[in-house]
Amino acid sequence: MATKRDYYEVLGVAKNAAGDEIKKAYRKVAIKYHPDKNPDDPSSEDKFKEAAEAYEVLSDEQKRARYDRHGHQGMGGGGGSPNMEDIFSQFGDIFGGGGGGFESFFGGGRGQQGGRRVRKGSNLRIKLKLDLEEIANGVEKKIKVKRYVACPPCSGTGAKNGTDLKTCGTCNGQGQVKRVVNTMLGQMVSASTCPTCEGEGKVVTSKCDVCHGEGRQLHEEVIPINIPAGVAEGMQLSMNGKGNYPERGGVPGDLLIQIEEEPHELLRRDGNNIMFEQYISFVDAALGSSIEVPTIEGKVKIKVEPGTQPGKILRLRGKGIKDINGYGRGDQLIHLNVWTPKTVSGEERELLEKLRDSRNFVPSPGKNDKGFFEKVKEYFQ
Ligand SMILES: [Zn+2]
Ligand SMILES: [Zn+2]
Repeated sequence: MATKRDYYEVLGVAKNAAGDEIKKAYRKVAIKYHPDKNPDDPSSEDKFKEAAEAYEVLSDEQKRARYDRHGHQGMGGGGGSPNMEDIFSQFGDIFGGGGGGFESFFGGGRGQQGGRRVRKGSNLRIKLKLDLEEIANGVEKKIKVKRYVACPPCSGTGAKNGTDLKTCGTCNGQGQVKRVVNTMLGQMVSASTCPTCEGEGKVVTSKCDVCHGEGRQLHEEVIPINIPAGVAEGMQLSMNGKGNYPERGGVPGDLLIQIEEEPHELLRRDGNNIMFEQYISFVDAALGSSIEVPTIEGKVKIKVEPGTQPGKILRLRGKGIKDINGYGRGDQLIHLNVWTPKTVSGEERELLEKLRDSRNFVPSPGKNDKGFFEKVKEYFQ
């Protein structure tokens, strides 16, 4: 591990420097090494972080006292340097408020520091119909969407060539104007969005010819969307940054995809299982047979045992829907029903009449058959 530089040395202040001096010194160093200002020098980010770490200790009386006594060892075993987000969030305290502040040095706004906010474009919502096969296995869909994208000639700024911009004079690029208001509690400063630049901190001096200053244009695009297996009606997927680009710069919104299930003509979904109702003739039920049933992967042959009672449930393992969280795959359940003919011909009637009184054709009630719901309950136990 690299040895750490002395915190006072990092900020270039004396050991007995006062709090104000330390703040001022940090401000200077932070501006000098700000990563936005030194895009080609990766070492500047390290120096920037080093300064933030030094400031964090020296600006805190207790931490500073501990550091003075024990040096870096006293600071709890090295510790990581603060991350960039934390550093930027400090800036509110150090640079915020006073005019001619930090942001005017660096054009670009970051997050919500100071008064300026990064604008986010609107979200785009689409509905996507999927059939059962697509839901069962997942699918890649290519979807045509019309959305606003940054205008290429002006890079989304709305200004001619992307350069005909100037710092807003009303707010000095702060994006906010402050007013002193007299209240019962004394004078208070209220900040509001700058009316001239609408909070952008910049004004366009000459508009882009292509987008007429809007900074964006409508564009038709085919977006590939990977739909995971196991989605369901009403679920919403979101693709970051695939929504509309806002006017005059910022970050695009998201593309929100609402799933709709197209009902299958034969198969019914129940969670990750597929239900199917199959009718067989009473001849097949009595003698046994081999029948074909539809599944989401095509037809499958199943065996009907001789003596099958109506209401029997067969299970095709793993022929259901893949779980969206990766917990395996559902089954297909086949509910066997026995078809009773509604009309019979004279010849059929003769055959059936002969069977009417046969011993094996007389049902034995209450003995061998369970209700459908009981069977389903049993199945899931
Ligand atoms: Zn302004
Ligand atoms: Zn433009």
